[in-house]
Amino acid sequence: MTETPTFVTHLECSETGKSYEADTLHGLSETGKPLLVRYDLEALGAAIDKETLAQREPEFWRYREFLPVRKAENIVRLGEVMTPLLPAPNLQAEYGGDEILIKDEGRLPTGSFKARGLALAVSMAKELGIKRMAMPTNGNAGAALAAYCSRAGIETYVFCPDDTPEVNVREIAFQGANTYLANGLINDCGRIVGEGKDAMGWFDTSTLKEPYRIEGKKTMGLELAEQLGWQVPDIILYPTGGGTGLIGMWKAFAELEAIGWIGSKRPRMVAVQASGCAPIVKAFEDGTKHAEPWVDAHTIAAGIRVPAAIGDFLILNAVRESNGFAVAVDDDFIQAAQEDCAKKEGILLCPEGAATLAAYKQELASGRIGKKEQAVLFNCATGLKYPMPPAGDAIDLNQPIDYASLAS
Ligand SMILES: *Cc1c(COP(=O)(O)O)cnc(C)c1O
Repeated sequence: MTETPTFVTHLECSETGKSYEADTLHGLSETGKPLLVRYDLEALGAAIDKETLAQREPEFWRYREFLPVRKAENIVRLGEVMTPLLPAPNLQAEYGGDEILIKDEGRLPTGSFKARGLALAVSMAKELGIKRMAMPTNGNAGAALAAYCSRAGIETYVFCPDDTPEVNVREIAFQGANTYLANGLINDCGRIVGEGKDAMGWFDTSTLKEPYRIEGKKTMGLELAEQLGWQVPDIILYPTGGGTGLIGMWKAFAELEAIGWIGSKRPRMVAVQASGCAPIVKAFEDGTKHAEPWVDAHTIAAGIRVPAAIGDFLILNAVRESNGFAVAVDDDFIQAAQEDCAKKEGILLCPEGAATLAAYKQELASGRIGKKEQAVLFNCATGLKYPMPPAGDAIDLNQPIDYASLAS
């Protein structure tokens, strides 16, 4: 058995700071809040340096010292590549900002960054002997859970709102999950998991209700800093549903500063939501610690249609401490940004990723984002998983082809 060097000391309630034992099963803390994994950062910093890291494979397991899996044999792999940071010169020229970088997470297994979180959650589930996992999902998380669990030999139960994009539902089922469609939203599906878990022997893998998805999402912050030469950008625009990625990156930056790899500069963290489901934006503007559940949530960006997030206060803290903000964009603006990026940069964003571009354009114009700020936008899934407008004019092979008529 190979031990990977790991520096986990304990888990900690994100609200009260109360300590919980590592290496045993945990869901939420006693006060019903997410648990955060804590490390012996001094020992971690002494065990790895940037030069050693630079020699490793270009995949996120290169950050294994920063991750909780103890035994290498428990790591469940599907090819967790480092994702590219793509410049967008044509959009920069058009919108007037100096530097836009798109972190294209659609290259990860199952086509979305949910693979980061679920690779960790499932590897830890394997390490802790979990046999059955359940989850509410708007699509991408369920697909990643199904894939990693099938790989690990763990049984899965996935509950989606009945208007989840069909390609996601089929992908989940095809990869081996017991898949159900409920006539409600993701929080209604979450209730099914919560109420059924004891009777069914499910481990609840809902966003932030287990401690390890956030550690997987943390790799986005580690990877981004490494790709920028151990610097952080000026501003990060993140499509925010449950907020795991935003919270995870914020944690990554704190850990990197603690070991002296980056300084005290932080990117301004911007939580982007859709106007039809913007609980975090409302709480940010109202100056409250928690967000009220959003009534009548709707948006084409399914991944951020999350009416209530259990980690709302963690998202809001990071946004406020970083001098960032939370902002909502309309669906038609999201669609326009998606088309702009596809036609002008050849990058097929998912609607959630397009929301960050729409927010960038909107807030560059309003002055909330400065022209000189180096901006990183997160495209969290491949655009191929989402419906596109119908296209393709017919050609009749029984008639002569009028080539001149084909020119656009
Ligand atoms: C899940 C998801 C999000 C939201 O991510 P959180 O970290 O849960 O806020 C954004 N975009 C896509 C494509 C997603 O699948």
